[in-house]
Amino acid sequence: DERVYVFKKGSSAGRKEMKELLGGKGANLCEMARLGLNVPPGFTITTRVCQDFYKAGGRLPDGVWEEILAAVVEVEAAYGGKFADPADPLLFSVRSGAAVSMPGMMDTVLNLGLNDTVVQGLAAKRGERFAYDCYRRLLDMFGDVVLGIDHALFEAEIHAVKEARGLKLDVELTGEDLKEVVRRFKGVYERAGKSLPSDPYEQMKLAINAVFGSWNTPRAVKYREINRIRGLLGTAVNVQSMVYGNLNDNSGTGVCFTRNPATGEKVLYGEYLPNAQGEDVVAGIRTPLDVAHMADNFPAAYADLVANTTLLEKHMRDMQDCEFTVQDGLLYMLQTRNGKRTGPAALQVAVAMEKEGMVTRDEAVLMVEPRHLDQLLHPMFEGVAKPEYKKAVLGKGLPASPGAAVGKVVFTADDAEKWEKEGEKVILVRLETSPEDVGGMHAAQGILTARGGMTSHAAVVARGWGKPCVCGLDKLQVDYATKTASLAGATLKEGDWLSLNGSTGEVLLGRQPVKAPEMSGTLSVFMEWVDAFRKIGVFTNADTPADAAIARKNGAQGIGLVRTEHMFFATAERISAVRRMIAAEELMEGEGSSAADALAALKVFQREDFEGIFEAMDGLPVTIRLLDPPLHEFLPHEGTAELDALCDALATEMKGRSGQHMSAVRILKSKIHGLQEANPMLGLRGCRLGIRHPDITEMQAKAILEAAVNVSKRGVKALPHIMVPLVGFEEELSHQVRVIRAAAEAVFKAAGASVEYKVGTMIEVPRGALRAGDLATHAEFFSFGTNDLTQMTCGFSRDDAEAKFLPLYVREGILPADPFEELDTSGVGELIKIAVQRGRETRPNLHLGICGEHGGDPKSIEFVSTLVDYVSCSPLRVPIARLAAAQAAI
Ligand code: PEP
Ligand code: MG
Repeated sequence: DERVYVFKKGSSAGRKEMKELLGGKGANLCEMARLGLNVPPGFTITTRVCQDFYKAGGRLPDGVWEEILAAVVEVEAAYGGKFADPADPLLFSVRSGAAVSMPGMMDTVLNLGLNDTVVQGLAAKRGERFAYDCYRRLLDMFGDVVLGIDHALFEAEIHAVKEARGLKLDVELTGEDLKEVVRRFKGVYERAGKSLPSDPYEQMKLAINAVFGSWNTPRAVKYREINRIRGLLGTAVNVQSMVYGNLNDNSGTGVCFTRNPATGEKVLYGEYLPNAQGEDVVAGIRTPLDVAHMADNFPAAYADLVANTTLLEKHMRDMQDCEFTVQDGLLYMLQTRNGKRTGPAALQVAVAMEKEGMVTRDEAVLMVEPRHLDQLLHPMFEGVAKPEYKKAVLGKGLPASPGAAVGKVVFTADDAEKWEKEGEKVILVRLETSPEDVGGMHAAQGILTARGGMTSHAAVVARGWGKPCVCGLDKLQVDYATKTASLAGATLKEGDWLSLNGSTGEVLLGRQPVKAPEMSGTLSVFMEWVDAFRKIGVFTNADTPADAAIARKNGAQGIGLVRTEHMFFATAERISAVRRMIAAEELMEGEGSSAADALAALKVFQREDFEGIFEAMDGLPVTIRLLDPPLHEFLPHEGTAELDALCDALATEMKGRSGQHMSAVRILKSKIHGLQEANPMLGLRGCRLGIRHPDITEMQAKAILEAAVNVSKRGVKALPHIMVPLVGFEEELSHQVRVIRAAAEAVFKAAGASVEYKVGTMIEVPRGALRAGDLATHAEFFSFGTNDLTQMTCGFSRDDAEAKFLPLYVREGILPADPFEELDTSGVGELIKIAVQRGRETRPNLHLGICGEHGGDPKSIEFVSTLVDYVSCSPLRVPIARLAAAQAAI
């Protein structure tokens, strides 16, 4: 296996398929070189070397350095010039590049190879101003990245020189000024007790080590954690001969997308800066120009750029994001990769490329990620044409990442994370963002920056996450010290409400109202393609007719879970009926009428709800789960005035029957106290509740079936599937099935009409999964409740584990992911497989689904897609599940 891959115009042993080994950047540089594009020659050190670097305790493995030296010689021969030679100096850049792009996460050093002698050689050849401009950049980046000297110290020095000369921009500095800057930068090194090695090879070795070292910096680790990037060997290192966008005014540097990354529109989209090096564009310090202007300033280079990017898009069969430099009028390609894009753009690009014949239909379906659809389904602002909206607009920056964000202003990434943990929604307001801020950016609803273009750090990262972002709002003034900002005469303090429209760039005072998004024509075309590939059904978890209607609009083919108890909290009347039922059951057991009254009142509410849901899902199955949670969840906490008042009211109501008022209150309180359990999640809940109180099961079964009969009289097709929760034993299920079937008979007899219905069970107790063969003798369908199944299989409390130790487990690599988000396929998944197999042995046509949170998680959907007939998820995730199911089938 080679460890160093050389690339030069026309040849390379590397190819685009080798991303795992060469990283995305390296593999594509090799590919561009092979395609004959004008790439500055260089070489890529593999990710395997990175892995070996860590195995060797943080140093280059034996023999690699010799291979690097040989590669340098090859590059010198290809490009001209000589590394470390003052007579004809060749300089290098050193950059990271992992298999998955991690914008801004890893480190870059430019202009390696300069020292006090070489800089004079470069000055003689290219001019003094240019040479010292390169030198000061090297000192700054090498100091910052390799030696850990704070970049701000260099910034302060260059600022001081500009101040003294009365200048605003770096480009206005003369050669003499830059020499002064270099002198001052050396002072910074001295005060830090550090120095730039004068041997260029030593510089190169240290820089390569630093890039490998940056793979495991906290910010890189955090980025991978947030984005669930796992299983990579490490980063590759790309060492490439320098070309200079800062050579003169006939030079420049830029980035461009082959299509608009926010909308998908087919135009060359990007920006460039004349007389600048790459970092100036990405760092967002100077505001760049539209790439279309290049046609006037650099016509030949622009024509090349158009030709190259068109070729690259065709060859890579995806929208490309390219970096380039123009040196003295000649275009060089520095990088290409598949461009990050917003949800709307992803959809647009996939559909357009299929129509252009550039990709096949299944490729188009694979080009849209589930999270892209998620963005399309995100809310937008209401009434953007209304005067109230327009009046609230404080200013307009660049629309860097679309969507509506509303939150309270915070000024630091740490505050954003802290506030978010406390349940606040925040907008992160910064002059600019840097990779250190990713945690806070992720925690925020939206991001606003004063500086930087559409390709600044904030913009790229936010777009990747589909988080609204407005950047480059240069009228925004931010004062970190007082935690205030001012914009258009308004002062924003920490905690003030602010709204961001990432689609237009508008920044609005206060909390603007938002509305649900609409399905566009392109989206319905795309979803039709998706459904043609999909092999399993997508149902929804919905508890109300309104949710059911949204889900149906999003393509749900049925309801996989109605959590009946969710309706109990809908109004004060309902919760009071539930509480009366509980108290009466506890107090009056077997005696009669109070409990029966309360149940009868509840039945009316439930029947109404079910009628509404059946109507919304006309013709589609509706799976309704019987009461599940422990009863005390419906009662006020002990020791509260609310509980006292409740007992008082109930005792008054029951007086007469229960004797003295005060003793009734006392008995009630002690009964309610008796409902407390040490482990309620393992306690009296699910079918255990229905066995302890069969009249509740009976009431619910009757409410469901009466509702079904009622709506069918109105011409609605109701398909009720009644589901018993938390079953572990065959006898539990047979008991409940008996109660349900008896209730059904009674309802049908009384109504003189009947409907078809099914009875099934949830599989959420490991014992139930193991005994699935027995359960299937009574159950016509299974629905895997993977929330409880995960809790009980792993022994992790679903209420506490996320706060206590799961993030640690993921960080330490003990678990690959939070098992409540992403199904634990080897444990919980194994139980599902067993249950599917044993259940189907007993009943070959057993209908199977999954209704835990995993039913909306793309990775989990992929796993269960060969096991079950459908997944069920929340209404807004339905299109995402449809896409994930289709992608699993391709
Ligand atoms: C489950 O346990 O996965 C489930 C769907 O039920 P709940 O979340 O209501 O316990
Ligand atoms: Mg459950």
